[in-house]
Amino acid sequence: MSYTLAIIKPDAVSAGRAGKILAHLEEKGFTVRALRMMRLNRAQAEAFYAVHRERPFFDSLVSFMTSGPVIPMVLESEDAVARFREAIGATNPAEAAEGTVRKLFAESIERNAVHGSDSDENARREVGFFFSEAERLGL
Ligand code: GDP
Repeated sequence: MSYTLAIIKPDAVSAGRAGKILAHLEEKGFTVRALRMMRLNRAQAEAFYAVHRERPFFDSLVSFMTSGPVIPMVLESEDAVARFREAIGATNPAEAAEGTVRKLFAESIERNAVHGSDSDENARREVGFFFSEAERLGL
């Protein structure tokens, strides 16, 4: 088993879609190992998305991610990073495959309902950003 870091983003939380997204992910075979609801401040959102600092959409992305509560969580499954990326679909919901979370629940390329780590290395970093080792292990 491996794990990934997922975030239900502010668009989906404020639209009342968090429960449906969680149910969808559990049906897809992911196990929730840790979860919380919180509101990111600007420094936290900038640090989390630091890799995108030079991108033209960075300020807009940070404003969006701080606009309301988010639900970060640790999800476990076999091959969790790749399986979760497949389950959420393309960044732009207009290009996401049928049945993916972004196709079902996202509003736009920015307000796209969920985040998922893109490598095992980033999953480790991103889980550590939100959760202690004890929380990840459920201790
Ligand atoms: P992801 O791995 O599929 O989440 O995509 P990226 O790592 O490339 O981008 C991070 C996040 O930035 C995305 O999930 C979107 O919320 C946002 N984003 C990506 N591309 C664009 C874009 O072209 N315009 C805007 N406004 N936001 C974007």
